[in-house]
Amino acid sequence: MRLILLGPPGAGKGTQAEILREKYNFFHVATGDLLRETVKKETKIGKKAKRYMEKGKLVPDEIVIRILIGELKKLENFILDGFPRTKKQAVDLEKELKKLEKPIQSVLYFNTCDEISIQRLAGRRICEKCGTNYHIENRPPANDMKCDKCGAELIQRKDDNPKVVQKRLKVYKKEINPLLEYYRKKGIIVELDGNKKAKEVFREIREKLGIDDLHKVKQGNRKNKKVS
Ligand code: AMP
Repeated sequence: MRLILLGPPGAGKGTQAEILREKYNFFHVATGDLLRETVKKETKIGKKAKRYMEKGKLVPDEIVIRILIGELKKLENFILDGFPRTKKQAVDLEKELKKLEKPIQSVLYFNTCDEISIQRLAGRRICEKCGTNYHIENRPPANDMKCDKCGAELIQRKDDNPKVVQKRLKVYKKEINPLLEYYRKKGIIVELDGNKKAKEVFREIREKLGIDDLHKVKQGNRKNKKVS
């Protein structure tokens, strides 16, 4: 199964993708994570991407698509988180996936209000090493500001500061309607209430997609890690 997750920053897309990855063996492909890895390497492309990300703007398509398609070629079942963000990206993605004979089956739309998104982003902390997400109130780590999985330090993402969050939400609102319309016409949108708690959203996903424990997907020899 191949899925796309759509919704504003802070909608819980990453959290649900991780639950689906752990339970059903999907690969979780997050363009934000792929870009952050590229930025860390300090290559020419990484430096260019950083300038956009710091301001909450979209990174140019040629950079994102090049990084993404390279990954998708290697995978059979995946969850796309953070891509597409514009109708143009959706059209380009469809063309590429057609060539690879890997069409998308469903697009999960996390309908989430601004207050909830902003509250989640303000409290979000991520592991600087393995990228696991936490929230200081909703999902705190067991040990003070250390990752439960690998013990590394938890940090706040630079673009989770209020000014950049406002910009990211503005960009999202400008692009989301044409994108939703594009997938509605294809009849593959599954709408979810992104304001609910993670457990309830996950239950809604299972019900609406009709998946159960038998749906563990096959991934060949690759380990179903987060792709980054
Ligand atoms: P995210 O981790 O999804 O919140 O993404 C963090 C940042 O990465 C965004 O604010 C953009 O600057 C960039 N980014 C992620 N995905 C895309 C995309 N599909 N197109 C353009 N820029 C992106």
